[in-house]
Amino acid sequence: MLLEMAGHEPQFLPQATAPMSSATASLHAVRTRIEHACADIGRPVSTVRLVAVSKTVEARRVRELAEAGQHAFGENYLQEAMAKQRELADLGLEWHFIGALQSNKARDAALHFDWVHGVDRLRLAQRLSAAAQERPAALNVCVQVNISGEASKSGCAPESATELCHGIAGLPGLRLRGLMAIPAPAPTPEPARRAYRRLRELFEHIRSQGLELDTLSAGMSDDLEAAIAEGATLVRIGSALFGQRP
Ligand SMILES: *Cc1c(COP(=O)(O)O)cnc(C)c1O
Repeated sequence: MLLEMAGHEPQFLPQATAPMSSATASLHAVRTRIEHACADIGRPVSTVRLVAVSKTVEARRVRELAEAGQHAFGENYLQEAMAKQRELADLGLEWHFIGALQSNKARDAALHFDWVHGVDRLRLAQRLSAAAQERPAALNVCVQVNISGEASKSGCAPESATELCHGIAGLPGLRLRGLMAIPAPAPTPEPARRAYRRLRELFEHIRSQGLELDTLSAGMSDDLEAAIAEGATLVRIGSALFGQRP
Protein backbone atom coordinates (compact mmCIF):
# COMPACT_ATOMS: atom_id res chain seq x y z
CA MET A 1 0.00 0.00 0.00
CA LEU A 2 1.27 3.42 -0.90
CA LEU A 3 0.88 6.17 1.66
CA GLU A 4 1.43 9.78 0.65
CA MET A 5 2.31 12.20 3.46
CA ALA A 6 3.04 15.87 3.09
CA GLY A 7 6.74 16.50 3.17
CA HIS A 8 7.66 12.82 3.23
CA GLU A 9 8.71 10.35 0.60
CA PRO A 10 5.94 7.84 -0.19
CA GLN A 11 6.27 4.84 2.08
CA PHE A 12 5.36 1.24 1.49
CA LEU A 13 3.42 -0.14 4.42
CA PRO A 14 3.68 -3.83 5.24
CA GLN A 15 0.70 -5.82 4.00
CA ALA A 16 -1.51 -7.51 6.55
CA THR A 17 -1.57 -10.74 4.58
CA ALA A 18 0.79 -12.36 2.13
CA PRO A 19 0.10 -11.36 -1.49
CA MET A 20 -2.17 -13.79 -3.30
CA SER A 21 -0.55 -16.12 -5.80
CA SER A 22 -1.86 -15.74 -9.34
CA ALA A 23 -3.63 -19.10 -9.03
CA THR A 24 -5.37 -17.99 -5.86
CA ALA A 25 -6.26 -14.63 -7.42
CA SER A 26 -7.76 -16.09 -10.59
CA LEU A 27 -9.69 -18.71 -8.64
CA HIS A 28 -11.01 -15.98 -6.38
CA ALA A 29 -12.03 -13.87 -9.40
CA VAL A 30 -13.93 -16.74 -11.03
CA ARG A 31 -15.62 -17.69 -7.78
CA THR A 32 -16.67 -14.06 -7.36
CA ARG A 33 -18.22 -14.06 -10.85
CA ILE A 34 -20.13 -17.24 -9.96
CA GLU A 35 -21.29 -15.70 -6.67
CA HIS A 36 -22.56 -12.56 -8.41
CA ALA A 37 -24.33 -14.57 -11.11
CA CYS A 38 -26.02 -16.68 -8.43
CA ALA A 39 -26.96 -13.64 -6.36
CA ASP A 40 -28.49 -11.95 -9.42
CA ILE A 41 -30.89 -14.79 -9.89
CA GLY A 42 -31.40 -15.69 -6.23
CA ARG A 43 -29.72 -19.09 -6.36
CA PRO A 44 -27.45 -20.39 -3.59
CA VAL A 45 -23.84 -20.48 -4.79
CA SER A 46 -23.62 -24.08 -3.60
CA THR A 47 -25.81 -25.10 -6.57
CA VAL A 48 -22.99 -24.41 -9.06
CA ARG A 49 -20.01 -26.73 -9.36
CA LEU A 50 -16.81 -25.28 -10.82
CA VAL A 51 -14.74 -27.52 -13.08
CA ALA A 52 -11.35 -26.01 -13.97
CA VAL A 53 -10.50 -26.85 -17.59
CA SER A 54 -6.78 -27.63 -17.65
CA LYS A 55 -6.24 -28.81 -21.25
CA THR A 56 -2.81 -27.69 -22.51
CA VAL A 57 -1.94 -26.49 -18.98
CA GLU A 58 1.11 -28.01 -17.30
CA ALA A 59 0.70 -30.25 -14.27
CA ARG A 60 2.65 -27.76 -12.15
CA ARG A 61 -0.03 -25.10 -12.70
CA VAL A 62 -2.84 -27.57 -12.06
CA ARG A 63 -1.16 -28.34 -8.75
CA GLU A 64 -1.04 -24.65 -7.87
CA LEU A 65 -4.75 -24.27 -8.50
CA ALA A 66 -5.47 -27.43 -6.50
CA GLU A 67 -3.43 -26.03 -3.64
CA ALA A 68 -5.49 -22.84 -3.87
CA GLY A 69 -8.57 -24.97 -3.21
CA GLN A 70 -9.85 -26.23 -6.60
CA HIS A 71 -10.83 -29.92 -6.60
CA ALA A 72 -12.41 -30.73 -9.99
CA PHE A 73 -10.52 -30.51 -13.29
CA GLY A 74 -11.62 -31.02 -16.90
CA GLU A 75 -9.49 -32.37 -19.74
CA ASN A 76 -10.12 -32.88 -23.48
CA TYR A 77 -7.28 -35.15 -24.58
CA LEU A 78 -6.80 -38.59 -23.03
CA GLN A 79 -3.04 -39.00 -23.34
CA GLU A 80 -2.32 -35.53 -22.03
CA ALA A 81 -4.77 -36.00 -19.18
CA MET A 82 -3.47 -39.39 -18.12
CA ALA A 83 0.11 -38.12 -17.93
CA LYS A 84 -1.05 -35.25 -15.69
CA GLN A 85 -3.14 -37.56 -13.56
CA ARG A 86 -0.07 -39.71 -12.84
CA GLU A 87 1.92 -36.64 -11.85
CA LEU A 88 -0.86 -35.34 -9.59
CA ALA A 89 -2.06 -38.65 -8.13
CA ASP A 90 -1.16 -37.56 -4.59
CA LEU A 91 -3.83 -34.81 -4.71
CA GLY A 92 -6.92 -37.02 -5.04
CA LEU A 93 -8.50 -34.71 -7.61
CA GLU A 94 -11.83 -35.24 -9.39
CA TRP A 95 -11.38 -35.58 -13.17
CA HIS A 96 -13.93 -34.73 -15.87
CA PHE A 97 -13.49 -35.80 -19.48
CA ILE A 98 -15.04 -33.02 -21.57
CA GLY A 99 -13.61 -33.66 -25.04
CA ALA A 100 -14.90 -35.59 -28.02
CA LEU A 101 -14.50 -39.30 -27.36
CA GLN A 102 -13.99 -42.05 -29.92
CA SER A 103 -15.63 -45.34 -28.97
CA ASN A 104 -12.28 -47.16 -29.01
CA LYS A 105 -11.02 -44.81 -26.27
CA ALA A 106 -14.06 -45.31 -24.07
CA ARG A 107 -12.33 -47.79 -21.80
CA ASP A 108 -9.50 -45.40 -20.87
CA ALA A 109 -11.99 -42.61 -20.25
CA ALA A 110 -14.20 -44.83 -18.08
CA LEU A 111 -11.30 -46.02 -15.95
CA HIS A 112 -9.40 -42.75 -15.55
CA PHE A 113 -12.16 -40.18 -15.09
CA ASP A 114 -14.97 -39.60 -12.61
CA TRP A 115 -17.20 -37.91 -15.17
CA VAL A 116 -17.60 -38.07 -18.96
CA HIS A 117 -19.54 -35.09 -20.35
CA GLY A 118 -19.57 -35.68 -24.10
CA VAL A 119 -21.74 -38.77 -24.48
CA ASP A 120 -23.72 -38.28 -27.68
CA ARG A 121 -24.53 -41.77 -28.95
CA LEU A 122 -25.72 -45.03 -27.45
CA ARG A 123 -22.80 -47.04 -28.84
CA LEU A 124 -20.35 -44.88 -26.89
CA ALA A 125 -22.45 -45.16 -23.74
CA GLN A 126 -22.49 -48.96 -24.09
CA ARG A 127 -18.70 -49.03 -24.38
CA LEU A 128 -18.36 -46.80 -21.33
CA SER A 129 -20.81 -49.00 -19.44
CA ALA A 130 -18.88 -52.18 -20.23
CA ALA A 131 -15.64 -50.70 -18.86
CA ALA A 132 -17.27 -48.84 -15.98
CA GLN A 133 -18.41 -52.08 -14.39
CA GLU A 134 -14.79 -52.61 -13.34
CA ARG A 135 -14.88 -49.37 -11.35
CA PRO A 136 -15.54 -49.20 -7.62
CA ALA A 137 -18.14 -46.45 -8.17
CA ALA A 138 -20.46 -45.63 -11.06
CA LEU A 139 -19.13 -43.39 -13.82
CA ASN A 140 -21.02 -40.08 -14.00
CA VAL A 141 -22.09 -39.18 -17.52
CA CYS A 142 -23.79 -36.28 -19.27
CA VAL A 143 -25.43 -36.39 -22.66
CA GLN A 144 -24.02 -33.76 -24.97
CA VAL A 145 -26.66 -31.95 -27.00
CA ASN A 146 -25.88 -30.02 -30.17
CA ILE A 147 -28.03 -27.15 -29.04
CA SER A 148 -26.94 -24.56 -31.61
CA GLY A 149 -27.42 -26.99 -34.51
CA GLU A 150 -23.93 -26.63 -35.96
CA ALA A 151 -23.01 -29.32 -38.44
CA SER A 152 -19.39 -29.48 -37.23
CA LYS A 153 -20.03 -29.86 -33.51
CA SER A 154 -20.43 -33.12 -31.67
CA GLY A 155 -23.52 -33.73 -29.60
CA CYS A 156 -26.80 -35.46 -30.35
CA ALA A 157 -29.69 -33.62 -31.98
CA PRO A 158 -32.06 -32.12 -29.39
CA GLU A 159 -34.87 -34.32 -30.80
CA SER A 160 -32.86 -37.47 -29.99
CA ALA A 161 -31.72 -36.48 -26.50
CA THR A 162 -34.71 -37.86 -24.61
CA GLU A 163 -34.46 -41.30 -26.18
CA LEU A 164 -30.69 -41.39 -25.67
CA CYS A 165 -31.12 -40.51 -21.99
CA HIS A 166 -33.64 -43.31 -21.52
CA GLY A 167 -31.20 -45.72 -23.19
CA ILE A 168 -28.29 -44.65 -20.98
CA ALA A 169 -30.33 -44.69 -17.77
CA GLY A 170 -30.65 -48.46 -18.09
CA LEU A 171 -26.94 -49.19 -18.53
CA PRO A 172 -25.00 -50.73 -15.62
CA GLY A 173 -21.93 -48.93 -14.30
CA LEU A 174 -23.15 -45.51 -15.43
CA ARG A 175 -24.96 -42.81 -13.55
CA LEU A 176 -26.69 -40.43 -15.93
CA ARG A 177 -26.34 -36.97 -14.36
CA GLY A 178 -27.68 -34.61 -16.99
CA LEU A 179 -27.03 -32.67 -20.16
CA MET A 180 -24.04 -30.79 -21.51
CA ALA A 181 -23.75 -28.28 -24.35
CA ILE A 182 -21.23 -25.99 -26.01
CA PRO A 183 -22.97 -23.11 -27.78
CA ALA A 184 -21.68 -21.78 -31.08
CA PRO A 185 -19.12 -18.99 -30.63
CA ALA A 186 -20.77 -15.57 -30.89
CA PRO A 187 -19.67 -11.97 -30.32
CA THR A 188 -22.43 -11.30 -27.75
CA PRO A 189 -23.78 -13.46 -24.90
CA GLU A 190 -27.42 -13.48 -26.12
CA PRO A 191 -27.24 -16.41 -28.56
CA ALA A 192 -25.48 -18.52 -25.91
CA ARG A 193 -28.13 -17.57 -23.40
CA ARG A 194 -30.91 -18.66 -25.77
CA ALA A 195 -29.06 -21.92 -26.41
CA TYR A 196 -28.69 -22.51 -22.66
CA ARG A 197 -32.41 -21.80 -22.23
CA ARG A 198 -33.28 -24.47 -24.82
CA LEU A 199 -30.94 -26.86 -23.03
CA ARG A 200 -32.70 -26.21 -19.74
CA GLU A 201 -36.13 -26.74 -21.30
CA LEU A 202 -34.96 -30.06 -22.70
CA PHE A 203 -33.56 -30.97 -19.27
CA GLU A 204 -36.90 -30.18 -17.61
CA HIS A 205 -38.73 -32.19 -20.26
CA ILE A 206 -36.54 -35.25 -19.66
CA ARG A 207 -36.91 -34.90 -15.90
CA SER A 208 -40.67 -34.72 -16.27
CA GLN A 209 -40.45 -38.19 -17.77
CA GLY A 210 -39.08 -39.59 -14.54
CA LEU A 211 -35.30 -39.52 -15.07
CA GLU A 212 -33.53 -38.05 -12.05
CA LEU A 213 -31.09 -35.68 -13.74
CA ASP A 214 -29.31 -33.17 -11.50
CA THR A 215 -26.65 -31.62 -13.76
CA LEU A 216 -26.71 -28.98 -16.45
CA SER A 217 -23.11 -28.75 -17.67
CA ALA A 218 -23.14 -25.37 -19.38
CA GLY A 219 -21.06 -22.23 -19.23
CA MET A 220 -17.47 -21.39 -20.11
CA SER A 221 -15.20 -18.41 -19.39
CA ASP A 222 -17.04 -15.98 -21.66
CA ASP A 223 -20.62 -16.89 -20.84
CA LEU A 224 -20.80 -18.33 -17.34
CA GLU A 225 -23.22 -15.58 -16.20
CA ALA A 226 -25.67 -16.40 -19.02
CA ALA A 227 -25.38 -20.11 -18.27
CA ILE A 228 -26.02 -19.66 -14.54
CA ALA A 229 -28.97 -17.37 -15.28
CA GLU A 230 -30.42 -20.24 -17.34
CA GLY A 231 -29.89 -22.86 -14.66
CA ALA A 232 -26.38 -24.28 -15.18
CA THR A 233 -25.28 -26.41 -12.23
CA LEU A 234 -21.75 -27.04 -13.53
CA VAL A 235 -19.52 -24.55 -15.34
CA ARG A 236 -16.39 -25.57 -17.22
CA ILE A 237 -13.87 -22.73 -16.97
CA GLY A 238 -10.47 -22.69 -18.66
CA SER A 239 -9.02 -19.40 -19.85
CA ALA A 240 -10.46 -17.29 -17.01
CA LEU A 241 -8.44 -19.46 -14.61
CA PHE A 242 -5.30 -20.27 -16.58
CA GLY A 243 -5.09 -17.50 -19.20
CA GLN A 244 -5.49 -17.81 -22.98
CA ARG A 245 -4.42 -21.13 -24.41
CA PRO A 246 -1.70 -21.15 -27.11
C1 LIG B 1 -11.90 -25.74 -23.58
C2 LIG B 1 -13.25 -26.06 -23.09
C3 LIG B 1 -13.85 -25.32 -22.07
C4 LIG B 1 -13.21 -24.10 -21.42
O1 LIG B 1 -13.28 -23.01 -22.28
P1 LIG B 1 -12.83 -21.53 -21.78
O2 LIG B 1 -13.48 -20.64 -22.75
O3 LIG B 1 -11.36 -21.51 -21.82
O4 LIG B 1 -13.36 -21.37 -20.40
C5 LIG B 1 -15.10 -25.72 -21.63
N1 LIG B 1 -15.74 -26.77 -22.15
C6 LIG B 1 -15.20 -27.51 -23.15
C7 LIG B 1 -15.95 -28.67 -23.69
C8 LIG B 1 -13.95 -27.16 -23.66
O5 LIG B 1 -13.44 -27.89 -24.66
